[in-house]
Amino acid sequence: MIMPLPPLTLYLHIPFCRRKCPYCDFHSSAMTRLPEGQYLAAVQRELSLRRRQWADDPRPLSAIFIGGGTPSLLASQTMAGLLEAILALWPVVADCEITLEANPESASLAKMRDWRQMGIQRLSLGVQAFDAARLHFLERPHTLATARQAIHHAVQVGFAAFNLDLIYATPGQTPEGWAGELTEAMTWHPHHLSCYPLAIEPGTPFFGRHQKGDWLAVGEEVEAVLFQQTRAQLAGGGWVAYETSNFAQPGFACRHNVNYWSFGDYLGIGCAAHGKWTDATGRIWRTRNPATVESYMALLAREATDGEPHPLLHHQPVSSTEAGRECLLMGLRQAVGVELALYQQLTGLDLVERHATRIGHWQEAGWVQVERDRLRLTDQGMPLLDSILLALL
Ligand code: SF4
Repeated sequence: MIMPLPPLTLYLHIPFCRRKCPYCDFHSSAMTRLPEGQYLAAVQRELSLRRRQWADDPRPLSAIFIGGGTPSLLASQTMAGLLEAILALWPVVADCEITLEANPESASLAKMRDWRQMGIQRLSLGVQAFDAARLHFLERPHTLATARQAIHHAVQVGFAAFNLDLIYATPGQTPEGWAGELTEAMTWHPHHLSCYPLAIEPGTPFFGRHQKGDWLAVGEEVEAVLFQQTRAQLAGGGWVAYETSNFAQPGFACRHNVNYWSFGDYLGIGCAAHGKWTDATGRIWRTRNPATVESYMALLAREATDGEPHPLLHHQPVSSTEAGRECLLMGLRQAVGVELALYQQLTGLDLVERHATRIGHWQEAGWVQVERDRLRLTDQGMPLLDSILLALL
């Protein structure tokens, strides 16, 4: 049986930053002069190639997410050009949700006004900490005063929703200090909060410094305390933990991210972006763009050889094993959990039957629930997400 096609959203990656933060392993390059014109031209070309590739797809976009990198570094004219190019080629639903990621030091009041006028309704601000010493440790290019001013401007401009990104579990952080930071975050009344623990990723400067013993990570126990504290404190203010690190006032979950975590389809546009696409027969495909700015722009400058599709359009089938894995990995992060019928459709397997003994134990322990065709983690189970996934994958 072929299921109806999932919703379709679009992610556009802006791979530029002023400088690299020492913990960051995202695809972005530190640049002082941005090749805005060339990047815009490359993205425009990619959009028209992909439109031809997906010509038969009738789905309108339900959300557009412009992330990075630091999208707020772009001039307003470039940003408008990018949005126009998307909207000229893709139909969108009437209330299409358009989100932009911005960093406080490059989000001026004038730019915010321009973004709002272009139709960007959601702003996600990379504040990261409400503590000067922690901002300094993270080597963010903004100060606490700049962060507060940017939030003030976002409120003044009146985005339909704004999000604050915060990082916790930095060395030496205490529950008391974190409580104070969360209190400040809540007093700004953001519609959405993303709170991620600091991850020490291989290949980053932080990884090297940590290996050398320059500082000690907070450790699993403290991180677990801060995790629970975040959930409890934000729940007290009405922010619902709809995903393990994401909290929203009712009705303000991020549509693109929910689609991604729910194994929906998304166009991945721009350098290093990847996409997922279900064709009319139900087969699932993955697209993956070149990872560096130079290689992405060079590929887009190439013409297709006679009779061959453009090399950017190369796509790979997603096996049922990979699809099931991804559906679980993403789905269990959400409070609503994984849709069991979808898992069965992707893999041909009954998840609950396959892990009946384990799931039975977890149910008894109060860590998981199976209800309304979903397997979900409870509040007690959410801190065990990684070990539960390990057992199910
Ligand atoms: S601003 Fe964001 S994307 Fe850029 S280096 Fe820092 S963490 Fe990475």
